[in-house]
Amino acid sequence: MKWKKIKQLKLSTKITLLYLILSAVLLSVLIPAVYFMVENSLREGLSGNMLISASAVSNAVVEENGEVVVHSSQLEWGVIKPGVYIQVVSQNGDVLYWSRDAEWVFDIAEHEKNEKNWELEWSYLTESKEVGGQKIQIQVLGNIYYNDFLNKFLWILLLIIPCYLLLAAIGSKFLSKRALQPIRQITMTAKKISGGDLSERIEGIESHDEVGELADTFNRMLEELEVSFQRERQFTSDASHELRTPMTVITACTEDALYTEDAAIREENIRVIQKENERMTKMLSQLLMLSRGYEGRCHFQPEQLCLYDMVESVSESLASMAEAKGIQIHNQIPEQQMIDADQSLFTQLLVNLIENGIKYGNEGGNVWVSMEKKGEQQRLCVADDGIGISKEDLPKIFERFYRADKARDRNGSGLGLSIVKWIVTMHGGDISVESTLGKGTRFVVTGF
Ligand code: ADP
Repeated sequence: MKWKKIKQLKLSTKITLLYLILSAVLLSVLIPAVYFMVENSLREGLSGNMLISASAVSNAVVEENGEVVVHSSQLEWGVIKPGVYIQVVSQNGDVLYWSRDAEWVFDIAEHEKNEKNWELEWSYLTESKEVGGQKIQIQVLGNIYYNDFLNKFLWILLLIIPCYLLLAAIGSKFLSKRALQPIRQITMTAKKISGGDLSERIEGIESHDEVGELADTFNRMLEELEVSFQRERQFTSDASHELRTPMTVITACTEDALYTEDAAIREENIRVIQKENERMTKMLSQLLMLSRGYEGRCHFQPEQLCLYDMVESVSESLASMAEAKGIQIHNQIPEQQMIDADQSLFTQLLVNLIENGIKYGNEGGNVWVSMEKKGEQQRLCVADDGIGISKEDLPKIFERFYRADKARDRNGSGLGLSIVKWIVTMHGGDISVESTLGKGTRFVVTGF
């Protein structure tokens, strides 16, 4: 069979074939070894049996009325051991007694005497005895191959090989099919999934072996995929929804501006268009940043940065926004404080957190940026005394497009904190938030 054809065989057939080959190799070594061990021990036993049998025959040879007779009745079945053949020969060469089958066995031995392996196959022993003045010879011939046991044993061994191989083939095919059943289930589930149904799961596998582990991993992967596909769908629908609102406003204002005679109304419409445009541009650049980040196309280059200077420059860029609400930004970072972070990403993180502190701060409020130490860990804190976040909203604020008060806040996109979270993850850190409604909010960042 060609290699390509073997490759196309089912795994259970391959396992069966391998098992059969291995069994055949083992049997071809084991069976001759066992046979030769038994043969050897029989050969050793044969010498003893020949002596015992010879002595039994010797006792049965007696003189009666001046003649030598052999009491064959004393030599019933069992006295002369299997594989041992005896003939009693008188002084003048007459055969006085033949044990069972001895006549033809002695004949065969005589014929084979000059052959190469005669001594391996045949054992020969002669005992002499004087009976009534006559010299009697008790000739003993032994041949282990003429022993029924060895023949039967050989046949059993030869029968065992095909029976064992047949049973091994059936058994290993059955067992491997059973063992691979869960894998077939996994394949079927994977086929259904490729049809788009991510809710499918592999069920009914209770074993805790490698296949059970594979099924578990596969199910967990499906669960994660399903969640992430759902999130992607939600993201696309949220993104289109968020972009549709400013587009509708822009379309309406453009029409108003085009058909109105009133210059003041036209100017007001153009101002709204400009604001919506700015909002849309910001949202699009945030979306671009997030998608680049998730695709891993973002350039991440950590370096030693002076955190105090960074907070200073971000505060300056947000100064007019803070002034408009009379909010004070307090840079409480130690002047020598260095961090290991990507400059552009970490600046974005500071902008988003401080801007939120201003956006959701009360008139005349405060935003504090400080460092604290917990054990060996440095933590950046951005806190404000603004409107706070309710307990229900708190777990969701890092989700994309999530805004606690959508109706009231038309300026936010709900992407700022998702970006913050992603930046923190890029730095191998974490972000947590504590907030009390009406009192203020505190973000704590680690990992730089
Ligand atoms: P947005 O562009 O709407 O500010 P973010 O992702 O930055 O989006 O914030 C998500 C939501 O979390 C906001 O809509 C707001 O309700 C809440 N939030 C974020 N920061 C603060 C804060 N400092 N104080 C109160 N609420 C906040």
